[in-house]
Amino acid sequence: MKSVEVPPADELTAGWWAATREHRLAVQVCDSCAGVQHPPRAVCTHCGRSDRLTLQDASGGGEVDSYTVVHQAPAPNVEVPYVIARVRLDEGVVLLTRLEGREDLESWRIDERVVLDWVDLPDGRALPVFRPHSAQWLVTGPREGDAT
Ligand code: ZN
Repeated sequence: MKSVEVPPADELTAGWWAATREHRLAVQVCDSCAGVQHPPRAVCTHCGRSDRLTLQDASGGGEVDSYTVVHQAPAPNVEVPYVIARVRLDEGVVLLTRLEGREDLESWRIDERVVLDWVDLPDGRALPVFRPHSAQWLVTGPREGDAT
């Protein structure tokens, strides 16, 4: 992928970023109410009380919640166009990410199944991106029943 702007890890996100080095996409799970949240926070947003939150690996599957094609580079070293998306993970949380693997950037569909892939960063971390669930979709579009 082209150059991207990536924030540094901080106290809250250090564990999440560490997992990306092993290509593991983590979500925070509340030890108290089992609520799932992303991005990592200090307190559970579901029960509003517990700060006992454990990072667990996500399945890597999800659906496109919304997306937009970026034509104007946010920084001089970023290549455009590219696709920014909200992907709803199978765990129920939304991840702000990129969609890759399509030549026609406008051809993504809302609720389309996508799968996790990784783009390695120079500092050893990796960025989660998502690709079409089936390569066949590139040619034929989704089949009936693929969305489940
Ligand atoms: Zn909770």
